[in-house]
Amino acid sequence: VEKMAAEGAVMLGKTNMDEFAMGSSNETSYYGPVKNPWDLERVPGGSSGGAAACLGARLAPGATGTDTGGSIRQPAALNNITGLKPTYGRVSRWGMIAFASSLDQAGPMAQSAEDCALMLQAMAGHDQRDSTSLNEKVDDYLGALNNDISGLTIGIPEEFFPDTLDGAIADNSRAAIRELEKLGANVVSVSLPSIKLSVPAYYVIAPAEASSNLSRFDGVRFGHRCDDPKDLEDLYKRSRSEGFGDEVKRRILVGAYALSAGYYDAYYRRAQQVRRLIRDDFARAFEKVDVLMGPTAPETAFKLGAKKDDPVSMYMADVFTIGVNLAGLPALSMPTGFINGLPTGTQVIGNYFREGQILNVAHKYQQATDWHKQAPAFGGDQ
Ligand code: GLN
Repeated sequence: VEKMAAEGAVMLGKTNMDEFAMGSSNETSYYGPVKNPWDLERVPGGSSGGAAACLGARLAPGATGTDTGGSIRQPAALNNITGLKPTYGRVSRWGMIAFASSLDQAGPMAQSAEDCALMLQAMAGHDQRDSTSLNEKVDDYLGALNNDISGLTIGIPEEFFPDTLDGAIADNSRAAIRELEKLGANVVSVSLPSIKLSVPAYYVIAPAEASSNLSRFDGVRFGHRCDDPKDLEDLYKRSRSEGFGDEVKRRILVGAYALSAGYYDAYYRRAQQVRRLIRDDFARAFEKVDVLMGPTAPETAFKLGAKKDDPVSMYMADVFTIGVNLAGLPALSMPTGFINGLPTGTQVIGNYFREGQILNVAHKYQQATDWHKQAPAFGGDQ
């Protein structure tokens, strides 16, 4: 925000999101969920659902979001916008409330890859206030947008098109990939054998880091404080019980359990080992291909309330996005059409610091198609 303000951008306000960025539907928000502008009975995705819905409804040209496991890309897909999760460390995390520090990354959300490039150009770069921010040169993202993509190799991970995937979602992403083939890209099949373990590994690592990060919300210096505490323990207990929502409490419990002395090796250490296998799978794939592509999300926007009581089915909304965070890679979601009137998106994953290349691929696609230009019809007092 500071960097964009320095470039003359005008900030209109803050948008709604899932509490502490934990969720895929906006329904864990303290304020209640945002509605999807394409169908007001459906979720906007999450956690950056407010930002995505606002852009989908054309209320603003751009927004920032954070992506720990898919929270820029999945809502981008559900609202027909473009969203980019940069390489871990590319954009400063200073000022963001930490959820899972080794995964959290801020990025741009906008109506096109070109606008994302414009925003990233301002946002990216080293920040000495964030010790994980990387001191790497910032590429010329705008300058790379029109590079020729003939000869580019696109890898299709077979695990991103499992037999269980909704056929319409699979067909949609395949059609987007064919469009890039027409522009001269080569398409090859690749395998990411460990990616199937990304959701379970994430749901150990992210809650573990969250349980540690959220320990500062104890009513003393940060967050809500209960009225009239009897003593210190009462202050901690009541402040945290009153202040945190159910999903946040669930993550704190899971995380504290996974980090506890008796279970650390069985869960946390093992999840970190799986994380390394996933990173190695991507590294092997990038020896052969320039970018990887597949669906961003396994389904279009679901009905509000549909998954509220089933956390595991909610966690599966990020089945195609989470591996990227575990590996620290950059990835973008772009609009690739509609299924029963609802937007759907395709993901373009690049190697480390190849934001320019994935923005280039998305821009070329958006020059050849007009899915990203479609906006929902509004009427009456909606
Ligand atoms: N939906 C995932 C979760 O609930 C990812 C959230 C995110 O990227 N902030 O943790």
